[in-house]
Amino acid sequence: MAEASGSPATGCLVDLKGQTALVTGASRGIGRAIAVKLAACGAKVVGVARTLEGLQGTADAIKAAGGEFEGFAADVAKAEDVKRVVDEVEAKYQKIHVLVNNAGVTRDGLMLRMEDEAWDDVIDVNLKGTFLWCRAVGAVMMRGRYGRIINISSVSGIRGNPGQANYSASKAGVIGLTQTIARELASRGITVNVVAPGFITTDMTDVLPDKIKAEVKERIPLKRLGAPEDIAEMVAFFASPASSYVTGQVIAVDGGMTV
Ligand code: NAP
Repeated sequence: MAEASGSPATGCLVDLKGQTALVTGASRGIGRAIAVKLAACGAKVVGVARTLEGLQGTADAIKAAGGEFEGFAADVAKAEDVKRVVDEVEAKYQKIHVLVNNAGVTRDGLMLRMEDEAWDDVIDVNLKGTFLWCRAVGAVMMRGRYGRIINISSVSGIRGNPGQANYSASKAGVIGLTQTIARELASRGITVNVVAPGFITTDMTDVLPDKIKAEVKERIPLKRLGAPEDIAEMVAFFASPASSYVTGQVIAVDGGMTV
């Protein structure tokens, strides 16, 4: 009975015991929910954000539930920070089984008025950051002949969205990057997939006016805004051995928004 319903202690459908999972942008929102979920499934979770203080809430939540978590302060877009964290994690845990590139930012504005800096900033964090972690952790996974990489894109990267030229380009870039490295890493037992969230209630979307939120909700076939946990469930599947024959795919978790 317990086997059929997953791990009864955690409510998880997948078993990540003995695995190490690195999650970027783990301090809040979707990244925190992913870190909490993977820890509940048995993984030792390494969380990254710009400050250790920011990661404290995630550490507390995971430890209170009996899970394992270690936080690292790093800017995902800085190659030297990425190298420092990955070297330290590999030295300590030997393997990194799961990488979730979740850290992301928005600096919205119409294209004709968009400053170079707003373009560069969003591309650096969302796209270059994802590349840097894939490259560094991909090397560790190659040595271990196993890996699950999950890159968080967005429905804006699939369909575009007015006011988000920089963000949409960065998230579409994440899809192209994923499809290419899925082919490059496949022979070593490493899968690379994209989860593309729709409208999820987090700090990133809280800033939008209620009127916009109500309009978006109306356009969603399932008639509700998403929760960070909705994304974490899909990430847990891609993070698990159960998804071994799926690579280079893009799954929108969006309540049917892109149907
Ligand atoms: P959020 O609440 O704003 O959280 C963003 C996370 O990214 C924080 O943990 C933040 O950590 C981290 N981060 C930002 N810049 C960083 C940097 N340079 N270095 C390290 N960490 C950095 O955002 P969210 O809504 O949870 O979004 C998470 C991901 O889902 C993003 O990639 C976003 O584009 C994507 N997404 C979100 C939605 C949505 O509706 N919410 C929809 C589609 C896609 P610190 O600030 O503590 O450093």
